[in-house]
Parts: sequence; structure tokens; C-alpha cells
Amino acid sequence: MNNNYKVVIVGGGSAGISVAARLLRQSHSLFNQIAIVEPADKHYYQPLWTLVGGGAAKKEVTEREMQSVIPEGTIWIQEAVNTFLPNENAITTDQGTLITYEYLVVAAGIEVNWNGVKGLQEALGQHEVCSNYSYTHVDYTWETIRSFKGGTALFTHPATPVKCGGAPQKIMYLAEDYFNRSGVRNQTQVVFGSANPAIFDVAKYRATLEKVLERKQIDARFRRNLIEINAEEKIATFEHLDTGAKETVAYDMIHVTPPMQAPTFIKNSPLSDAAGWLDVHKHTLQHNQFANVFGLGDCANLPTSKTGAAIRKQAPVAATNIISLMRDQPLTASYDGYSSCPIVTGYNKLVLAEFDYTKEPCEMMPFNQAVERQSMYILKKDLLPVMYWNGMLKGTM
Ligand SMILES: Cc1cc2nc3c(=O)[nH]c(=O)nc-3n(C[C@H](O)[C@H](O)[C@H](O)COP(=O)(O)OP(=O)(O)OC[C@H]3O[C@@H](n4cnc5c(N)ncnc54)[C@H](O)[C@@H]3O)c2cc1C
Repeated sequence: MNNNYKVVIVGGGSAGISVAARLLRQSHSLFNQIAIVEPADKHYYQPLWTLVGGGAAKKEVTEREMQSVIPEGTIWIQEAVNTFLPNENAITTDQGTLITYEYLVVAAGIEVNWNGVKGLQEALGQHEVCSNYSYTHVDYTWETIRSFKGGTALFTHPATPVKCGGAPQKIMYLAEDYFNRSGVRNQTQVVFGSANPAIFDVAKYRATLEKVLERKQIDARFRRNLIEINAEEKIATFEHLDTGAKETVAYDMIHVTPPMQAPTFIKNSPLSDAAGWLDVHKHTLQHNQFANVFGLGDCANLPTSKTGAAIRKQAPVAATNIISLMRDQPLTASYDGYSSCPIVTGYNKLVLAEFDYTKEPCEMMPFNQAVERQSMYILKKDLLPVMYWNGMLKGTM
């Protein structure tokens, strides 16, 4: 078997597939010269998991065979990367395969640390402990919300970077909306325990979301980091991040956004920064030490919100700069930190936050996106999935 490729891409998620498709569109000579190393059988459109948890979409539509999204002209190696040997332009896999490359793209996503909260792993998917962050259990979120009879509904946001910083609160707004419809809202207290200092870090959208919290009478408690769940007693323990004090909340249902971290095999490699993330230049996406290595998506140390929308802007930059490097040309494509968070604030309501590294809004629509709109909810529910499968993964948008 030939284990030497012009380009090797680690990870066949949103970022890996998008960048492969872009490279092939921009340079026909790369046909059959690109390998994607990806162990999973399935590819997921994770942004829809919020609506699955809220009962507004079926989880099956978010899953496709990996084979069906691998672009024609790339070779899929179904193995997991174990180690990076950038000085030898090589990687090794869990099957003991050594693969060499001329150019490497690292797009391995983020690692969800279910063990980061004591008691979570064992409780997940039963006893009213749910999470949209797991394909296996995402439909249990809807089961829990649908059968909720009142009491305290608790939602959490951890003290680590997460994929889609808005997702921990989106499911809370959907649940609150549903409790009104199911007639249990009057006997329900909705509590948000978040490690963040505020509801959102872009001022314009924060102002809207603070009004949403007020309107919905949500008890938002900031700088609280969930550290333990006692599923038998239904008690959650938080640590106050400023005082170190422990605080317990008795709940009747809990939606947990688990802590997340850089993938361990990146953290343990020469490619990581001090915090374990893939160390890339924030504009060119080129590795800060190894010139023939690029990185993007959730595993990269880009100081912006980790979303698929961000990857939509990163993939063309990475592909263009790799091709420039191949041609000995300067790297002119530049990523500005664009990210977007479609914050669902109820069924048929959405605030479309768009911003860049400056944390200032950079809105694409010809209207004020901080206003909750039904049109933007339809965009998220019905249009963005089509654009993802048929556009972004094909390298056309
Ligand atoms: C509940 C939820 C809601 C979200 N909402 C939104 C939203 O509304 N809008 C939005 O834009 N984004 C949203 N996101 C975030 C978005 O899904 C991610 O940012 C995006 O999928 C990241 O793409 P990625 O390619 O970096 O990682 P992934 O798409 O997670 O892919 C990583 C790939 O790397 C592979 N991999 C892992 N380890 C190895 C290894 N050792 N060797 C080789 N391959 C490996 C994995 O199998 C996987 O296929 C949401 C996510 C969740 C979970």
C-alpha cells in the first residue's frame, strides 16, 4: 500500500471534508493525491442537535454515512491518528500505519470530556439527566422536556471552550417555550448555571438575550461551574469560580453541556500550544512552527467561537493558502475570526449573531440581526442543513 500522499487531512468532520472539497476544486492536479484519515463510519450535522433536543427535528437526518461525504478524488483511510511526527512529515495510526505527507491539515474537532463532571457519565440518558452534546442521547433531551411535570429545570454551561457557545442556552429557551405550551411553566423554575460572566460576550446580542432572560423569568447564575451530579438525589453541585464556594441546586431535570478539551493526541504532540490546542496562525491558519502543516475547526487555537459557520470561512482560507504554498507563492488568504451563532430563543424565534475576532457584529443580512425573527429560525431549521450537505461539504459555499 502506498502510504505517501501530497496532502493528508486528519479528521473527516465539517472542517476536514470542506477543506478536501475546496482543495480539489481549486487544483485538479490534487485528484487522488489527498488522503483523509478518519476512523468514524458516520458524519454528523451537529448544529441540528439543538432542534432534535427540542423535539423540532429527527436525529436520523443529522447522520450520514462517512463514505457518502468523502469527496471523489480523495482516499479515505479509516484509521485513527495516534501520533504526529512533523519533523519526518509523518503520522502514525492506531493500526500501526505510518503515513507520510508533503502537506498536512489537522481538523480533528474537540474532545467531549464526559468524565469532567463527577457522576455525569453514569447518569447520562436516564434519571432526567440529558445532553444535546451526544448523538446517542440527544433524543433523551426531548423525552425529558416533553415529560417534564414541573419543578426545577436546570441548564449548564461549563468553564471550558465548547462547540457552539450558544447551544447550552438555546435548548433552555426551547424548553421554557415548551413548558408554556405543555402547561407546566407556572410550576417551573428555570435555572441557568453558567461558568461565563454574562449571557453572551458580544454586547449587541447580549443586550437582546438579557431581555429574553427577563421576559422568560430565567434565573441565570454566572461564574458557576458544574462539578458534580448526584443523579439519585437529583442534586447538582457548582463551584463559584470567583469565590471557590460550593453551591448545590436541587433539580427535577438537568441539561448538561459537558466540559470539552483539545483532542488528547493533539495535546500530546509537537503541534499543540501550551493549552493543548493546535497552534496555528490566526489569519493564515498555517502552523506556527511547521510551515507545511495547517489547521482549522474546533481543534485549532483560533481565538473565536468554535462553530461550523466559522469553518465555512476557514476552509477556503486554508485551501487557498496550501495551494499558494505548493506554488511558492505568498499566503494571501486571511481569516478574520468570523463566527456565527444562530441563537434559538423559542420555537420560531432566532437571533442570528455574527461577529469576528474584534467581537463586533458583522452581519450579512440587510436588517438588525439582534432582533428575534421567525425568518432566521426557518433559515436554521430548513435552509442551513441543505446548504451544509449540498454546498459547504462540496466546497461551493
Ligand atoms: C449541540 C450542538 C449545537 C451546535 N450548533 C451549532 C450551530 O448552530 N451553528 C454552527 O455553526 N455550529 C454549531 N455546532 C458546532 C459545529 O457542529 C462544530 O463546530 C463543527 O462540527 C466542528 O467541525 P470539526 O470538523 O472541527 O469537528 P467535527 O465535525 O466534530 O469532526 C471531527 C472529526 O475528527 C475525527 N477524529 C477525531 N479523532 C481523530 C483521530 N485521532 N484521527 C482521525 N480523525 C479523528 C472525528 O471522528 C470527527 O469525524 C454545534 C455543535 C453541537 C454539538
